[in-house]
Amino acid sequence: MTTPIEQRRILRTAIPGPASAALHERKLASVSAGVSTGLPAYVVAGQGGILVDADGNQLIDFGSGIAVTSVGNGNQRVIDAVSKQIAEFTHTCFMVNPYEQYVAVAEKLNELTPGSHEKRTALFNSGAEAVENAVKVARHFTGKDGIVAFDHAYHGRTNLTLAMTAKNMPYKHRFGPFASELYRVPMAYPYRWPGGPQHCADEAFNYIVDQIHAQIGEENTAAVIIEPIQGEGGFIVPPAGFLKELAQWCAANNILFIADEVQSGFCRSGDWFASDYEGIVPDLITTAKGIAGGMPLSGLTGRADIMDTIHPGGLGGTYGGNPVACAAALASIETMEELNLAARAREIEAILRADLEKLAATYPQVGEIRGRGAMIAMELVTDRETKEPAAALTAAINKACHAQGLVTLTCGTLGNVFRFLPPLVISDDLLHEGMSILADAFAASV
Ligand SMILES: *Cc1c(COP(=O)(O)O)cnc(C)c1O
Repeated sequence: MTTPIEQRRILRTAIPGPASAALHERKLASVSAGVSTGLPAYVVAGQGGILVDADGNQLIDFGSGIAVTSVGNGNQRVIDAVSKQIAEFTHTCFMVNPYEQYVAVAEKLNELTPGSHEKRTALFNSGAEAVENAVKVARHFTGKDGIVAFDHAYHGRTNLTLAMTAKNMPYKHRFGPFASELYRVPMAYPYRWPGGPQHCADEAFNYIVDQIHAQIGEENTAAVIIEPIQGEGGFIVPPAGFLKELAQWCAANNILFIADEVQSGFCRSGDWFASDYEGIVPDLITTAKGIAGGMPLSGLTGRADIMDTIHPGGLGGTYGGNPVACAAALASIETMEELNLAARAREIEAILRADLEKLAATYPQVGEIRGRGAMIAMELVTDRETKEPAAALTAAINKACHAQGLVTLTCGTLGNVFRFLPPLVISDDLLHEGMSILADAFAASV
């Protein structure tokens, strides 16, 4: 057993404290400036909803390392599974000598992802790699080139996925040229839809299919890729029915529908996958982040007829589906099943929303509260009428939360969205305390 870390916030020094500051000096002298840190309090331990820093401060974790440690750091089942696997063997390369753990994760992904049809899975290391492979598979299967992504999309930082990612700073700036045959269409973003939220679903759908028809041609379009709830782009939830209509249109036009559930998957949104809530069954689905309790693993799961058209050796990689990462994934998934973390995500939503509604009643800067499950955000504006993005206020609140030992994250193409991604195993007490820190930070920043 690891030493239990008391699930409460403790501030012993300023955040970051002197030990973290010293480490940060070393970081600045050794790590590329291109790799920045949101809150430079250097972590030495973590469990459940708490991160311990080098100065002995205990921080409340509202970020889960960007939706990764859904089952919590220090999860005993994950620790045991990983320790056992490390002792047995750490690597063979599945393409050289296979092992059961990889197969078991593939079986689990085939079972849990939306749809009861026959499926196949391939495993990789990162979300971007899973997305790249989704594009490869879609092009190979359809014999077509065009890939359609959305405004506010985030699909990763490799060259191909950057072509799909929508935000210039900091992701794309001066890193091009990017891969070709990637097209962008507007996102069904109700809060900012020009015709108003009530017309967003229909107008967005019509606009998108017209644009694909006119600018690419259905016969040249291999796939449409969408995050069912957009992550980095601002936790944008498309209006009810939009995704279903789009998926049906894709099916009718021999275009694959790819759901990128790297952030929204694995109980985060209150269901196993955000696609489940919308009743959509993607042809291909990408997973990563929450899948393996913090170990690097990603998956591409899809219709067997699509995934099995690829020639032997066409998919793979040295580390993809590493046995230690697979052991962690199996332990994480077991934890999600046993603790019903999808239901817990919905409870977390209720707690966060109640407090966010109070903020919205007090501060006109709260433009919208949105999201599902433990993937909740508030979009901040300087004025509810003009909806002018309040990026400076968002940054100020974030900084004030950090100073009080609450690890928070922002997002949004315009930098004005405050997002909440706590571990799904966090206690109610820590959630309440975190939200009261947020309320103070808001009051001090407006
Ligand atoms: C984080 C993310 C990615 C990229 O995952 P990495 O593991 O960072 O490569 C892709 N898609 C979505 C929706 C994400 O949130």
